[in-house]
Amino acid sequence: MKSPDVPKALVIGGSLGGLFTATALRAIGWQVDVFERSPAAMDSRGGGNVLQADVLQHFRFAGIKHTNALGVRSHDRLYLNRAGTVVHKEPMPQTQTSWNTLYNALISAFPAERYHRGKTLVDLTQNEQRVTAIFADGSSAEGDLLIGADGAGSTVRSLVLPGAEYTYSGYVVWRGLVNENELPDFAKAQLYEDFVFQQDPESLMLEYMVPGLNGSVIPGERRFNWLWYLKAAQGPELNAVLTDHDGRRRSHSIPPGALSAEREAYIREMGERHANPAFRELIRQTTDIFVQAILDLRVPRMVFGRVLLTGDAAFVPRPHTAGSTAKAAQNALSLAQAINGKGGIDAALVVWQQEQLSEGKRMGDWGVSMGNRIMGITQS
Ligand SMILES: Cc1cc2nc3c(=O)[nH]c(=O)nc-3n(C[C@H](O)[C@H](O)[C@H](O)COP(=O)(O)OP(=O)(O)OC[C@H]3O[C@@H](n4cnc5c(N)ncnc54)[C@H](O)[C@@H]3O)c2cc1C
Repeated sequence: MKSPDVPKALVIGGSLGGLFTATALRAIGWQVDVFERSPAAMDSRGGGNVLQADVLQHFRFAGIKHTNALGVRSHDRLYLNRAGTVVHKEPMPQTQTSWNTLYNALISAFPAERYHRGKTLVDLTQNEQRVTAIFADGSSAEGDLLIGADGAGSTVRSLVLPGAEYTYSGYVVWRGLVNENELPDFAKAQLYEDFVFQQDPESLMLEYMVPGLNGSVIPGERRFNWLWYLKAAQGPELNAVLTDHDGRRRSHSIPPGALSAEREAYIREMGERHANPAFRELIRQTTDIFVQAILDLRVPRMVFGRVLLTGDAAFVPRPHTAGSTAKAAQNALSLAQAINGKGGIDAALVVWQQEQLSEGKRMGDWGVSMGNRIMGITQS
């Protein structure tokens, strides 16, 4: 039987932010339940991201085991012009992973019976020590802490901090993945195990290799991951980008397999006209192109009694910082460390909030200035 003294956390959102928090709190002895809106497994979605030290520190703290290496090493940074000529090259080794590699490692370390799919939080109530989460299906759950890890469009945030919404930056990122062996030899040779860019006015394309869908880092089984930042004006142009193949206007992204035929034709044609030969091949060989609006979000507070905001629910930094996932890992690790110290939960949350707000703001400012410079956006 469960001891009544074991503290209990309710984590809303079962993506990386939620799983980082859930596994870190379990490592300090908490009982944790994760409530994820999506009814289906999410492990085949997502693209690549840079593997940061914060994620590795979190994995060590939470005892997350992984059989394969977590990422693919790149050696140099190459800058190509539109003709495909190398205009600049510098050594800059780093490791890139993929969303599904991290997700699979985290979810395998969390008890399946405590990960509740198809649970959409719609409301919450709290008193000084307890929080109750209320779900769309009429069920509820009670805990000592509720952590809103429900992403940029957070329902938890809308309940505790109404009016704090993300803003649109003025540009989007088109994305895709290509299996290593599906790329023609000339393109593979130029892009192989390097971080490669093509920067033009108001346009940045980049590419790096990531593990295969099954997490394999064996040569021949990995994937090329590409991104292309392009402007899309708020209004009809952005609406067209974010309207899926069924005519539904999505809030801020079109996942793989849901792009409209018109937008797919548009980005493929753009690739034919503007991409260097190797990047052109990446776009040609991509089956499911997807797209995300680049957003900005920062909150003035992350702690609201026994309700917290973490990950993208609190801060959405621009992707040029390569820091969203690292920040979610850092939020979770420091939360567990703070709560595990002496002095009680409420005092720990005050300290945690102060540190995370200052880091979120720093990363936000840095990302906005870098992104606007890259895309030629003048700040008003
Ligand atoms: C399927 C998927 C693929 C992604 N792929 C990449 C990638 O390739 N590269 C990258 O850098 N970042 C990717 N991201 C974003 C990345 O996970 C985040 O930027 C970062 O890791 C912080 O994550 P988060 O958990 O705070 O937010 P998110 O990843 O946005 O997760 C929020 C989660 O909360 C759930 N949710 C939302 N509202 C509710 C509600 N009311 N009740 C219950 N659950 C709710 C959502 O379904 C989602 O799973 C992806 C996110 C998802 C969901």
